[in-house]
Amino acid sequence: MKRKVLLTIFIAIFLFGCQAGTKPSSSSDKPVIKIGYLPITHAAPLLLDHHLHEGEFAGYRLELVKFSSWPDLIDALNAGRIDGASVLMQLAMQAKDIGVDLKAVALGHRDGNVIISANDIDEVNDLKGTTFAIPHTHSAHHLLIHELLKNEGLSYDDVNLVEMPPPEMPAALAEGRISGYAVAEPFGAIAVNLGVGKVLAHSESFWPDSYCCVLVLRNAFITENERLTQEFIKHYVAAGKAANEKSDALYEALQNHMDVDKDVLELSLEWITYDNLKIEAEEYAKLSDRILQLGLMENPPAFDEFVDLRFINEVTEENES
Ligand code: ZN
Repeated sequence: MKRKVLLTIFIAIFLFGCQAGTKPSSSSDKPVIKIGYLPITHAAPLLLDHHLHEGEFAGYRLELVKFSSWPDLIDALNAGRIDGASVLMQLAMQAKDIGVDLKAVALGHRDGNVIISANDIDEVNDLKGTTFAIPHTHSAHHLLIHELLKNEGLSYDDVNLVEMPPPEMPAALAEGRISGYAVAEPFGAIAVNLGVGKVLAHSESFWPDSYCCVLVLRNAFITENERLTQEFIKHYVAAGKAANEKSDALYEALQNHMDVDKDVLELSLEWITYDNLKIEAEEYAKLSDRILQLGLMENPPAFDEFVDLRFINEVTEENES
């Protein structure tokens, strides 16, 4: 499974090793920043940022590029078809590890992941011997289920972990094909809303502040567009603060990208925060440690090589002064 993902990334680099950069749009002379995303509530700061400004900012136009799978998004990032993305942090770390020059500039959110189980699962121990789904080997959800099992005295091998596309998970749970799953939202809230599953655990109850999604930019884009990057991050962080208010505008922004009821979104948004999107070295170290423990990567990128805090720091200092 790991080899297949690596192969996909390598092929993408060889086939599309080109540069993107910003190009003037046809409708105006503004540069265009292209950011990839998957339609999930974890990408709310990006989606709300675009919604509030209808994509038009003083110095640039923001173009959102929708993907239906993480491997497709990573391929586009590697190929330079997009300038950045809201993406699972571990996938970005893995891409960085094999030579794709990415920088993580801000988080997508904090907390907001739930462990969903079938209604007849009373406690974590009941997962023993069952099949449990995660979206991707290189996901926070893989680490979270491992952490939960470990805390409850179960071993990693006690549960049969399978990868599954998130939209299939609620149905698989309803049909009894899996005992539970961990995934980006709103797919957990969908099962709860349908009554086919329940929240077995909230991520913050056993791993507070765990990192999941991150905003990355291609380093070449940053180097060529530092002023623009600063402007973009300023708006992104402001949108994160606005998203945290869970206002009507946020629901509109999300429903423009995903066909889910407001009840589902309300439940999903109860579990997540967007107000502090700065990546901290200590939590990054914990994430890297768990990745090593599970043997998911041999050399997770060093914090200083992967994380670029210049832009979010500048925004924070501006807000404080
Ligand atoms: Zn996430």
